[in-house]
Amino acid sequence: MKKSPTKTGSFHPAAALDYLPTEQLRALQLGRLQHLARRVYERVRLTRDRMDASGVKPEDVRSLEDIRLLPFTVKTDLRDTYPFGMFASPMEEVVRLHSSSGTTGKPIVVAYTKQDIDVWSSVMVRSFIACGLNEHDVIQNAYGYGLFTGGLGAHYGAEALGATVIPISGGNTDRQIMVMKDFGVTAICCTPSYFVHMIERAGELGVNLQDFPLRVGVFGAEPWSDGMRRHIEEESGIKAHDIYGLSEITGPGVGIECACEQGLHVFEDVFYPEIVDPDTGEPLPDGIEGELVLTTLAKQAIPMVRYRTHDITAIRTGPCACGRTIRRMDRIGRRSDDMFIIRGVNVFPSQIEAALLAVEGALPHYQIVLSRDKGLDTMEVQVEVTPAVFSDTVGALESLQGRLGKSIENVLGIHVDVRLVEPHTIERSIGKAKRVIDRRNANA
Ligand SMILES: [Zn+2]
Repeated sequence: MKKSPTKTGSFHPAAALDYLPTEQLRALQLGRLQHLARRVYERVRLTRDRMDASGVKPEDVRSLEDIRLLPFTVKTDLRDTYPFGMFASPMEEVVRLHSSSGTTGKPIVVAYTKQDIDVWSSVMVRSFIACGLNEHDVIQNAYGYGLFTGGLGAHYGAEALGATVIPISGGNTDRQIMVMKDFGVTAICCTPSYFVHMIERAGELGVNLQDFPLRVGVFGAEPWSDGMRRHIEEESGIKAHDIYGLSEITGPGVGIECACEQGLHVFEDVFYPEIVDPDTGEPLPDGIEGELVLTTLAKQAIPMVRYRTHDITAIRTGPCACGRTIRRMDRIGRRSDDMFIIRGVNVFPSQIEAALLAVEGALPHYQIVLSRDKGLDTMEVQVEVTPAVFSDTVGALESLQGRLGKSIENVLGIHVDVRLVEPHTIERSIGKAKRVIDRRNANA
């Protein structure tokens, strides 16, 4: 079946801010930044204390460059003030809470006022428009619904666009494929690795996604390569777009790839991007790779000032053939810390360690092996047991294995394979232990 091409040149009024003349955009950003500085100084104690410590007052922000006077915010700030310490709105104005995993098992909490939800929906609308979608599209939303921001973020955006949204959430792949076919789905939202799994499963079921009306994929929540994009596009016949976001800033919809595939447009009227040296925090000019720092220019409930994302990228200023004037950033392939993402969930080795050591009978010798099985990320945690435990009955070993798996699942919220290994089989290190063996790109 011949597919209709994605309409990329058509202008949609909901995306007007993507095309603002640059001077106008900068003026809008400055006004919002000044308002933000006042709001956090008045309402967020942690930020005010830091501004006071460095002798900075909100009125010192006179230009966009003056954003550098403001203090950074890091993820541990959210954890240290858990759950509501960084809120700038009273709870009666907060209409929704989301949460994501933190580095030590304590989650972080993010909040939204009605206006925050509207802004979030509007950037998702602009994202979908950049992917060539409109009110005629039927969008299958296979991001997880719940505390994770992916599901509801895409859902509200799809509805605000006027498209038909199918809130199927993740999992049950056979049903996903049946719905995709029977409901005439034209666009899918999920992690790229999950879509690869769908392609594979469809093949096993004897159906070819190329025969479906599906034409666009909006993929995010984990880094993915251009190699993966080629695989997806060739196997399914769709156009695959990279979407970027993080819960601390809003959720999905911080940036989106237009049809030109020259990086992701950042919705900088509401999410102001900077690039800094990840080690020194010194600002870097456009075009130079460093750590992405984001400031929310319109967020009410939990505004973020200069949030350190740990994502490594560069800002691109040249004109994009799509005509959008908002700047772009390179696709994100790595992070400045040791976090890894498995099936859309952020995982730190320290979380695994804490979960393992909470279970009796396990030694603190473990290794996390990441691999990619037919396009789907898998994680196996290999755990050494004591000689006494190892010579125990099979039933006892299985029981221990089950408890370890449960303990990790409680922290991460996803199932992880645990394998018990003989004493002294995991390599010892006198320096920094290599906890993570990442074989996911071994064959890429
Ligand atoms: Zn573009």
